[in-house]
Amino acid sequence: MTERISGKTQLIGLLGTPISHSLSPKMHNEAFTRLGLDYVYLAFDVGTEQLEDVLKGYRAMGIRGCNVTMPNKVLVRDYLDALSPAAKLAGAVNTIVNEDGILTGHITDGTGYMRALMEEGIDIIGDKITIAGAGGAATAICIQAALDGVKEISIFNRQDAFYERAKQLVLDINAKTACKAQLFDLADLESLRGEIASSVIFINATSVGMEPLVGQSVVPDTSYFRPGLIVSDVVYVPAKTQLLEMAEGVGCKTVNGLGMMLWQGAKAFEIWTGEEMPVDDIKALIF
Ligand code: NAD
Repeated sequence: MTERISGKTQLIGLLGTPISHSLSPKMHNEAFTRLGLDYVYLAFDVGTEQLEDVLKGYRAMGIRGCNVTMPNKVLVRDYLDALSPAAKLAGAVNTIVNEDGILTGHITDGTGYMRALMEEGIDIIGDKITIAGAGGAATAICIQAALDGVKEISIFNRQDAFYERAKQLVLDINAKTACKAQLFDLADLESLRGEIASSVIFINATSVGMEPLVGQSVVPDTSYFRPGLIVSDVVYVPAKTQLLEMAEGVGCKTVNGLGMMLWQGAKAFEIWTGEEMPVDDIKALIF
């Protein structure tokens, strides 16, 4: 690593908390090394309180960019100069690029998720899907799925600030795309059962299943699943969440969050460097 750092090395950061579990530093640093690019990627434990100051520092120091993760993805928009069309629609940002002091926010989670499904040979276009969550990751997935041609999306969230935000998401999807979206309370288990039963895939896009909620699942028990249903989790640490374990037991095809992580990262990499990430090499390394 010391051989790689020069007077011209550019810094890419990851801003979120908790952060120490992230595979992004490994993924991007390996890709920089393989392509001989003069960048380094570091994770910073940054919550919402420090976010504004950190981004002022980005401008002052000319830092090239960052990924943004929980809990900063929505709030960070307030401190940026511009948003990509997808980030504007999703109301969330996971990638920032600094061009001469102008900070532009992008969202690559939605395209990353859809690409990850495609790589698994899963086609949900024209079908109905059910998703738990209405935060940054869930919103990005819903928007991209709707734009790509998913027919119907049933969104479940607990009654928190994200639920209120999801009302606008549903309005936007119904007004701006051909997809029909509906919002439900995650506590409404009868509806959860019915919507999963009429969907091709159930997606957990909440933080349930990762630290500190390891061993928990948004779906109460396996009676909500059937063989043939696809069950997917955006969580990738642990690689097999309680939800995926339950689904596997019933014979469902399962997909964890590693593929989404890889493909959202590949897009962000391209935004910062203008180069394509060597995805096959990186996949072999992190999977
Ligand atoms: P966020 O803070 O924007 O949203 C959190 C969501 O989880 C909200 O919908 C919230 O209501 C829900 N939630 C939190 N605690 C809950 C609980 N106890 N019960 C029910 N619902 C609960 O976060 P985010 O950025 O959307 O991230 C959500 C998850 O997605 C995290 O686990 C994150 O690691 C993961 N993620 C994975 C990838 C990937 O590439 N695989 C990308 C982005 C996010």
